[in-house]
Amino acid sequence: MNTAVSYLPSPPAEDVEAEIRRVFERQLATALRLRGSTCQERLARITRLKESVLAHTADLYRAGEADFRKPPAEIDLTEIMPVLAEANDARRRLRKWMKPTRVWPTRATIGSSGWVQYQPRGRCLIVSPWNYPVNLTFGPLISAIAAGNTAILKPSEMTPQLSALMCRIVREVFPEDEVAIFEGDGKIAQALLDLPFDHIFYTGSTAVGKIVMAAAARHLSSVTLELGGKSPTIVDASADLKGAACNIVWSKFTNSGQTCIAPDHIFVHAQVKDEFVRHCRQALETFYGADAAAQRASPYLARVVNQRHTARIKGLLDDAVARGARTLAGGAVDEASCYISPTLLDNVPADARVMREEIFGPLLPIAPFTDIDEVIRQINADPKPLALYVWSRTAATIDKVTTHTSSGGMCINNTVVQFLQGNLPFGGVNYSGIGNAHGHYGFKTFSHERGVVRTRVALASMFYPPYTDFTRRLIRLLVRSV
Ligand code: NAD
Repeated sequence: MNTAVSYLPSPPAEDVEAEIRRVFERQLATALRLRGSTCQERLARITRLKESVLAHTADLYRAGEADFRKPPAEIDLTEIMPVLAEANDARRRLRKWMKPTRVWPTRATIGSSGWVQYQPRGRCLIVSPWNYPVNLTFGPLISAIAAGNTAILKPSEMTPQLSALMCRIVREVFPEDEVAIFEGDGKIAQALLDLPFDHIFYTGSTAVGKIVMAAAARHLSSVTLELGGKSPTIVDASADLKGAACNIVWSKFTNSGQTCIAPDHIFVHAQVKDEFVRHCRQALETFYGADAAAQRASPYLARVVNQRHTARIKGLLDDAVARGARTLAGGAVDEASCYISPTLLDNVPADARVMREEIFGPLLPIAPFTDIDEVIRQINADPKPLALYVWSRTAATIDKVTTHTSSGGMCINNTVVQFLQGNLPFGGVNYSGIGNAHGHYGFKTFSHERGVVRTRVALASMFYPPYTDFTRRLIRLLVRSV
């Protein structure tokens, strides 16, 4: 875990701001040139990035370990693999994505042809968080390059080793007028947000997402906001309890709970709660060790990213316990080493902070229910979440939850794999985000979908003034025929 805030000595703020403006200006001519870039040229740039990421695998392991003791297996699975998947998807399908989409003429435009042209947006800004730094910086970058844009990246200051490594990779692979990267905190992000980017792709907290959207409004830059929230998970009485418990424990405690789409809290049917909890405890022991000491020594548990976040999560735990919550497993906190053991919580009152705020750490409240309609009512009373998971073998329950709730994405009898399904849009809804990432959806996010009409016979001339009786009859005919 990292306790230092900055890795490289920061140049004086005014120098960085001047440097940002200089690079932004340089990218203008390149962005205009890239409008005419071919599929081959774009893929060559994506391939160079992919190869560089692979060549730096050992460096990524070292940086992940230094920043928050991220296990190498999780660097492979959650940082490198998604970047490779995004790159390979573009390599297989970019030619098709770039092709204009033909559309039929409407009755009012008979005699013309029409198509959607996928134009690069131009100069794009990508601001990313620390929890999956490489994945959430280079993933969107691949979509931006596939769509023919220039980009400036601003990774998080909270994982300084991984951010510094990404700087190295970007500078090895790209000239700065194509892709540039600036390290730093919110101040640097603010300096970037002052500029009239054509598109801003932001991943991070909902609170900062609102600041980004307000800044984008100054220039009417289009925005994609990939935000957070509390993703509920429902386990009903018919579910495969062991399968659900193992999967939920894995997705919740990977990255020490610091995953935007991790199950935030569980609603489990009262009839099966004890058995579900038993399976969860068993999974914790199998994955991370049989007792508190073994779990603490486990090489498979990442740390909380810094002491500020450790104190924040400890605050959620203390508040819940003070209000009567019971610890079913875990509960150990060592603020100095940013360690919080994987913790299961029972009997958490609805007004506890852990049930109101995004947890983003290794605490898992488990609440019993008897009426699925009441669970749906509670979910709909909260802001729309980024993800929602339901574990059930009952078609009617699955159908009810799917129809009567809203969330960015959803899994039935699984969690988090919607991120790996690159043929689906990935994004939030309202409070949890605006717009989509991944694959074809990512390409379209970074493209302007320009509608083009080409006219062979100018039928519109029949409706020009003066509006004689004959013209009026023609107009009335048209109005009734559309
Ligand atoms: P954060 O909002 O604190 O920071 C994200 C980025 O914004 C960082 O690069 C940071 O430097 C920058 N930033 C900070 N203050 C800023 C300001 N005032 N103006 C402009 N930029 C500013 O988020 P975080 O703590 O890095 O990440 C955790 C949050 O991100 C959680 O809420 C999580 O759910 C969310 N998240 C969402 C997704 C998704 O795909 N939807 C993925 C990962 C994380």
